[in-house]
Amino acid sequence: MLRKLFCLLALGFAPLAAASAQSSPANAENSSLKVYFIDVEGGQATLFVTPGPHALLIDTGWEGNNGRDADRIVAAAHGAGLTRIDDVLITHFHQDHVGGVPQLLARIPVGTLIDHGVNREESDPATHAVYVDYQKVLASPGTPQRIIAHVGQVLPIAGMQVEVVSADGQLITKPLPDAGTGAGSPNPACKQTEVRPTDQTENARSLGVVLHFGKTTLVDLGDLTWDKERLLMCPNNLLGHAEVYIVSHHGWDHSGSPAFVNGLSPRLAIMDNGGTKGGSPAAWQTIQYSPGLEDLWQLHYAEASGPLYNVPDERIANLKGGADGNELVLTVTRDGTLSVFSARTGATRTYPAP
Ligand SMILES: [Zn+2]
Repeated sequence: MLRKLFCLLALGFAPLAAASAQSSPANAENSSLKVYFIDVEGGQATLFVTPGPHALLIDTGWEGNNGRDADRIVAAAHGAGLTRIDDVLITHFHQDHVGGVPQLLARIPVGTLIDHGVNREESDPATHAVYVDYQKVLASPGTPQRIIAHVGQVLPIAGMQVEVVSADGQLITKPLPDAGTGAGSPNPACKQTEVRPTDQTENARSLGVVLHFGKTTLVDLGDLTWDKERLLMCPNNLLGHAEVYIVSHHGWDHSGSPAFVNGLSPRLAIMDNGGTKGGSPAAWQTIQYSPGLEDLWQLHYAEASGPLYNVPDERIANLKGGADGNELVLTVTRDGTLSVFSARTGATRTYPAP
């Protein structure tokens, strides 16, 4: 119920005006991975471009709004020098993740759609509606190939290793290979993480992936919920350390438990919150004070959280009252150097390899 209210609020506040998306620099260094955090106003749309280039988009933002989110994704793809998106991975069948698929496919060619299978939340009318539209896309002529992903599968994505750790409510039960990440070790943060009831929504079905590029590990679990995080991280941390945490569930405190975030102990965290969605103070604090964090970045100023629970303006892509649609672009070089470019400020901050 809360989640529905939350989504309705987000929809109600979503600006209808056209985006003023700024373009970011094209993938000039052809040996690096670029990750475009596209502003879809509290949904997710994260575009990974490997040196190939090979493009993987995780989620497509919302439906409606005259194709606002699809337009922003296509602008980011063109900014990266792409004329197609090879793979589109849908974490789960909520509006803010799968809603934009029909509009996106009307604007740019897509090679493969990857998802967790079946909508498990038919009781929610909005989720049912976008899932029906997604099924229509799958049934239409000339539709992309589809992969239904399973836990433990390494997805056929060129240029980086992408391993499925959660899908349709299932989770890996054995640790990922420990290449110095500590995967499989006991997780001391379990003690400070309360046990919460099983989430029954599509969030808990999220198709979550761990991505490896060069010496860097990135984690994106969509909106995977607190209860599932605990199973992945307690008593032993099955994922291990990751340098980059793509913040779960827009930074809403139904995800992002201490067991999960401290277990990852990321160097950088990037939160795809909206102005009035996500960025809960409790989840924000867990990230901000996690061991080893160098910086947290946000796609929006979280309006309900106030100045105490937002990062400084220079690390926020879209400020309160300012133009929306500004993206953040993460560059990952093979040696583990990370940098973040803000389309709003035009500035880049670099984090040298350890
Ligand atoms: Zn979401």
